[in-house]
Amino acid sequence: MIKKIGGKYVVLSETTGRRFGAYATKAGCGRSRCSSTCAGAARARGAAARTAMDFELTDDQQRIRAVAREFADAELGDRIAPYDERQEFPHAIVAKLGPLGFLGVLVPEEYGGAGLDYVSYALIVEELNRGDASVGITMWAHNSLCTNHIALFGSPEQKARWLPRLATGETLGAWGLTEPGSGSDAAALRTRAEPRDGAWVLNGSKAFITNASVGGVAVVMARTDPGQRSHGISAFVLEKGMPGFSAGRPYRKLGLHASDTAELIFEDARVPAGHLLGERGAGFGQAMQVLEGGRIAMAAMAVGIAQAALDQAVKYMKQRSAFGRTLAEFNGLQGMIADLATEIEVARLLTLRAAWLKDAGRAAMNAAAMAKLFASETAMKAATRAVQIHGGAGYITEFSVERIFRDAKLTEIGEGTSEIQRIVIAREILQLS
Ligand SMILES: Cc1cc2nc3c(=O)[nH]c(=O)nc-3n(C[C@H](O)[C@H](O)[C@H](O)COP(=O)(O)OP(=O)(O)OC[C@H]3O[C@@H](n4cnc5c(N)ncnc54)[C@H](O)[C@@H]3O)c2cc1C
Repeated sequence: MIKKIGGKYVVLSETTGRRFGAYATKAGCGRSRCSSTCAGAARARGAAARTAMDFELTDDQQRIRAVAREFADAELGDRIAPYDERQEFPHAIVAKLGPLGFLGVLVPEEYGGAGLDYVSYALIVEELNRGDASVGITMWAHNSLCTNHIALFGSPEQKARWLPRLATGETLGAWGLTEPGSGSDAAALRTRAEPRDGAWVLNGSKAFITNASVGGVAVVMARTDPGQRSHGISAFVLEKGMPGFSAGRPYRKLGLHASDTAELIFEDARVPAGHLLGERGAGFGQAMQVLEGGRIAMAAMAVGIAQAALDQAVKYMKQRSAFGRTLAEFNGLQGMIADLATEIEVARLLTLRAAWLKDAGRAAMNAAAMAKLFASETAMKAATRAVQIHGGAGYITEFSVERIFRDAKLTEIGEGTSEIQRIVIAREILQLS
């Protein structure tokens, strides 16, 4: 439910009346016609929509996108450039995401979240990443990975313990699957969790973990049965401050400089038995399900980055002149823009379709892989072309396409590389296990 209060659109939960978020927005007619935003209702809507092809977003989804866009326009973009330059995490800006509901997008309302559907989530992720990908990845890694893992597989007690803090932004979440010796081959992970005196003792480390040093809660996959491969892996919730659990120094990266990526280190880290998520040995299967939704969010991130690149290219083409004409008048550059706009729209449609399948409770692994593969390669292409259209200006830090170009590359690597997405898609087509 969105209401206009004092010149601002306020997004309210219809069931609880709780405030999801508020932002001054120029978009929309101000009508408050709406339907429930709970995930169950969204799934029901998805099921109903199966009878007809309908590309229209619901009123709620349009409003939520408008709120995210207004936030990105007001708070992100060039405002993140100084943080990017200093390689500094923008704590003050990320703190504004919680009150808007953007840190508990998929969390049910009973645990303090917004309880939104995946289509709404994809729209928010796209808009935030269009504004800035460092803030974008911080938000979606928190939502899709750590928080969603607990929401999907935690017991009612575990959800009540951790989700409200995560959903409100009181603390950020990290998720550790990748290790120094295993990334694409995630089932080869070596971090050990051994039962000792009624608890688990973890030893090992995780590499390249988003929100590792700024997060207060982490879901970590560790090997509980060395004799088994994927069935010997379990998932645990760890909290900062537990003895033996720490984060390394943030990496210096090619892009996403204002996001936090670091190691997680376990040195005889004692984890109470109640921190095991689901059954012993179920962690790898859980992680694969988490990644299904994560890949949709990564695809939405890539669409946002690609759109930002196109926006910057269009702006520059209108203001820059050569040979007595603006760049916008050159046929060669017009062709580039037309191709990019078309490919971005394809990427967006693939992403929203994968999100829609997820909302409908249908198999989405292949659709998510296709969306992630196509959107990430489109983001890289759009960023490369946008730099080209800027000429020398695209190569210096004064213009944001330089940052967008560096940020885009991650989308072809994180949540499974493009090569791994191709394997997922081909296996499905060829019916290989
Ligand atoms: C900024 C950033 C943030 C990240 N955040 C997280 C996070 O929050 N949590 C987390 O767990 N991980 C995170 N990661 C890790 C990321 O998911 C991995 O880097 C990624 O899955 C690739 O694994 P790898 O780096 O070990 O590469 P490798 O697996 O070593 O792959 C190296 C190359 O070999 C290719 N390759 C591997 N296997 C095959 C194959 N079978 N066929 C063809 N080619 C293959 C790959 O595609 C790649 O090109 C993050 C990474 C980065 C850079």
